[in-house]
Amino acid sequence: MTPDALQTLREALRHERRLFGRFVPLPDAPDAAMPNYDLFGNAVDPAEDPSRPPSERITALIPDTPPYDELAALDTLSEVEAFAANQMLIELDETRENPVFGVGDPEANLVVIGEAPGRDEDKEGEPFVGRSGQLLDKILEAINFSRQDIYITNILKSRPPRNRDPEAEEVEAHIPILYKQIALIQPKIMLCVGKVAANTLLDRRSSLSSLRGDEHDFYGIPVMATYHPAALLRNPNWKRPTWEDVQLLRTRYDELTS
Ligand code: URA
Repeated sequence: MTPDALQTLREALRHERRLFGRFVPLPDAPDAAMPNYDLFGNAVDPAEDPSRPPSERITALIPDTPPYDELAALDTLSEVEAFAANQMLIELDETRENPVFGVGDPEANLVVIGEAPGRDEDKEGEPFVGRSGQLLDKILEAINFSRQDIYITNILKSRPPRNRDPEAEEVEAHIPILYKQIALIQPKIMLCVGKVAANTLLDRRSSLSSLRGDEHDFYGIPVMATYHPAALLRNPNWKRPTWEDVQLLRTRYDELTS
């Protein structure tokens, strides 16, 4: 229900209450002018409150317990990068060669999200610098983006051994860092590359073929998904659908930024 409709309903209930007394279930407080309460006066979870900007909704996803309370209060990406480098949140943070935080324009309108650093990324401390990164650069060039125009990051900031999938506890520990990155960058649109990144961000358990081609919503920010470049290196048949996905991404990017 829209805030306007809620307001109208609340006024109607007030009117009824004037006529029929307290049988009408309208709580005394909070006032209808407070948009973060529902019709019955219950506080709305800030993350689920569409009247708030995406950055506030996404920040509300960060746990308010140490050390994440500190993360939620940070004001710049470099402070968040220092947090990611200094906090040992999971075992992978101890075994990594370098943290892989993210790279690109801190005010980018497009954020690209991968799964986790691989060996090359771990060595260099930068996302998508290996073979799949080179392919990602080509894909982005084909739709007229360079690395400097956008921001690239991953769900995990530390390399899992033998490039295995991230484990649930690792995601739970690291994803608040991604939330904070998104909340500070405030992109107009995001692209998840690969099933793991898309399912993790969107809290789904779907195949990539069902995730791609649609626009999803992440607390007010549109999200698209396409194949991971490493998957394209293994299966060239997925190049055409990827091309279609990124064309669509470019069209939506242009609409959202014009
Ligand atoms: N694969 C990813 O998902 N991310 C990287 O940074 C590199 C490879």
